[in-house]
Amino acid sequence: VATMADREIQNVLDEALDAFAGLEEGANADYIPALAEVDPDIFGIALVTPDGRVFTAGDVEAEVSIQSISKVFTMALVMEEQGVSFAPEGVGVDATGQVFNSIVAVEQHRGAEMNPMVNAGAIATTSRVSGASRDEIWRRILDFHARFAGRKLAVNEPVYESEAATNQRNQAIGRLMYAYGHIEVDPDRATDIYTEQCSINVNARDLAIMAGTLANAGLNPVTGETVMTAENVPEVLAIMATAGLYDDAGKWLYRTGLPAKSGVGGGIVAVSPGNFGLAAIAPPLDPAGNSVKAQAAIDYISQKLGGNPYEVE
Ligand code: GLN
Repeated sequence: VATMADREIQNVLDEALDAFAGLEEGANADYIPALAEVDPDIFGIALVTPDGRVFTAGDVEAEVSIQSISKVFTMALVMEEQGVSFAPEGVGVDATGQVFNSIVAVEQHRGAEMNPMVNAGAIATTSRVSGASRDEIWRRILDFHARFAGRKLAVNEPVYESEAATNQRNQAIGRLMYAYGHIEVDPDRATDIYTEQCSINVNARDLAIMAGTLANAGLNPVTGETVMTAENVPEVLAIMATAGLYDDAGKWLYRTGLPAKSGVGGGIVAVSPGNFGLAAIAPPLDPAGNSVKAQAAIDYISQKLGGNPYEVE
């Protein structure tokens, strides 16, 4: 998109909004009760280029909880602290082929081979963030997300409370990972911090800037701040590609070629390296837990803008 006029890029976003706003499939996540209450008609799209241009369409001010998209950034934080090899050598980097909160997947390899993009691997990843107290660990996670977004972020307290009251399954996953030696601190605390990180509120613009920072080798194109080490970005993107859309990651990669990450709040971020960061938010999800409209919009926009990194001109 480096050579495209602003007008052309904006038109593509507007077309996507128009084309997919009417999609009726999917439903809000409801296993977290507060997510069922979110307006299902929210539809926001944003794109950020490495030279810091920001394009938006639709409900770009509407905030939803980041949910699993946070897995990318907490993983990036642990990579900054411990090096990228914590993933292949510790948590694992292969897709599980199971739903994102699968307990069968944990059992299959006694807690090994869990990808940081699914709950077991993500809780184990969160458990590795450094800090002398819960508060210090939490501050580091929130601050790291905020630097990617380029603004102060806050937790959606009702979502956090709602999930914390109903996340017995994630608590079980955390304890199993502890039992198998993949979590070495209090697993309930790790699950609780993970739950709080999933409740961070973001809008489509925030998510696009976060993705744009990854597309720009770790330098936030809007604030100009270097948020993470450029050398670690390829590993982040590779892991997003393996399981960013969970069990549908293969279908997604086949369609778009883009490393991406979805969340049950309805957001999806996608990265075309060196080219753009793209995000969409729309709460209704397909059976794999991925936003129907966000997938359609990102796929459409990326195709129009030549975003597939496997396509050589
Ligand atoms: N907080 C959610 C959970 O742990 C995140 C899941 C998701 O977005 N896929 O279930």
